[in-house]
Amino acid sequence: MSQKPVILIVDDEPININVVAELLSDRYTIKVATNGIKALEIIQNQKPDLILLDIHMPQMDGYDVARAIKSNPSISEIPFIFLTSKQDNNSIVMGFKLGASDYITKPFNKEELHVRVDNHIHAHLLQRELNITLEQSKNNLKIIDSYVAFVRTDLEGITLEVSSRMCRYLHCQPEDIIGKKMNIVRSESTKKEIYKRLWGTIKNKETYVVEIENKNFNGTTNWYRATISPHINIYNKHIGYMAFYDNIDEKVEVKRLSETDKLTKLYNRAKIDTLLESEMERAERYGQPLSILMLDIDFFKSINDNYGHHIGDLILQEFAAILQKGVRKVDFAGRWGGEEFLIISPNTDSRQASILAEKLRLSIEKHTFSNGIKRTSSIGIAQYDINEESSALFKRADDALYEAKKSGRNKVVVK
Ligand code: GH3
Ligand code: MG
Ligand code: MG
Repeated sequence: MSQKPVILIVDDEPININVVAELLSDRYTIKVATNGIKALEIIQNQKPDLILLDIHMPQMDGYDVARAIKSNPSISEIPFIFLTSKQDNNSIVMGFKLGASDYITKPFNKEELHVRVDNHIHAHLLQRELNITLEQSKNNLKIIDSYVAFVRTDLEGITLEVSSRMCRYLHCQPEDIIGKKMNIVRSESTKKEIYKRLWGTIKNKETYVVEIENKNFNGTTNWYRATISPHINIYNKHIGYMAFYDNIDEKVEVKRLSETDKLTKLYNRAKIDTLLESEMERAERYGQPLSILMLDIDFFKSINDNYGHHIGDLILQEFAAILQKGVRKVDFAGRWGGEEFLIISPNTDSRQASILAEKLRLSIEKHTFSNGIKRTSSIGIAQYDINEESSALFKRADDALYEAKKSGRNKVVVK
């Protein structure tokens, strides 16, 4: 597979060529030229790995050939060695100034010539391999740049480099974020605690993996699994951070859909169940009160009966919107099923929950739904007792709701 390296011998004396060729033909493929013009033709077409160049030649001398090689980028990297009887210093200096890799005078010692040629060939082949590797690395970096979303920052989090893929996600040009802190793309939906934990971890030189939402320059947002690691340079010095971003929009959307009631866009029952469990744990841990509100629309069935199911759906959506608007940011509003809804109110005792319930009851009573429909709602409240099962808590809220219904509807009852 490995072919012999090619050496071009340029000399106007065939007898000189023969001596050198015989010496080197064991390890190399030999090409020959007896004048400068012919030599350049072979160099251009066959790109030898090394040229042995006589200086003294009629018409075009060795220096001219050297100049022609150096002035042509497609062959200028091919090494050449002057092999000449000219021994004066000026000629030697001139030879090296023209870019010769070596200068050997005739008559030469055969062994020495062989060793010198071997060394130059070795260096040239290494150089060529290095150039190819460098070219491949540049190509790989280009591919990585266009397919991998990443950002490199200094120790303060100021962006030093951003990949094209990341710029496409962010809808920006590199100059929009280079020199700035990455927190310009922070979205409000990612909690401050997460960034605190992030910095705590990476300042400790550990890798942090986190799901975060970024705000893009065109107003849209994307979700990522971001992997942020310390950037250590070749001298083992911590000089900044590398962040790699995997887009997880689809995963987040699937999760959101699995937690959302399709009709009202409130949390569905499954999500409300898990939310309540975690809020109960939190209430217990921090000794804070927790209340739930169970709401049911009064005489809802008659809407379906009188206006049709479609209008019934519309009223459910409007009702849900009133709840969503009426609760605090920390509260969770969900659809419990049918025309029943549930609100989880953290850090809220039953008295505060009654105030919220009364506020909601009133806004529903005052609201005119589609088709001029008016409806009221009944609300049952229960405050969480430490160590109580969630099913028992639901049951107490449901009992309270039942009492509200039984005692005339459009009422709030606390159990
Ligand atoms: P009450 O005051 O005692 O709560 O009376 P109500 O009519 O509101 O209660 P009932 O439980 O008798 O009726 C609830 C109705 O809600 C029956 C059911 O058809 C209707 N419903 C449940 N889910 C949906 C829904 O997704 N869309 C529509 N349009 N109706 C629904
Ligand atoms: Mg009802
Ligand atoms: Mg009902």
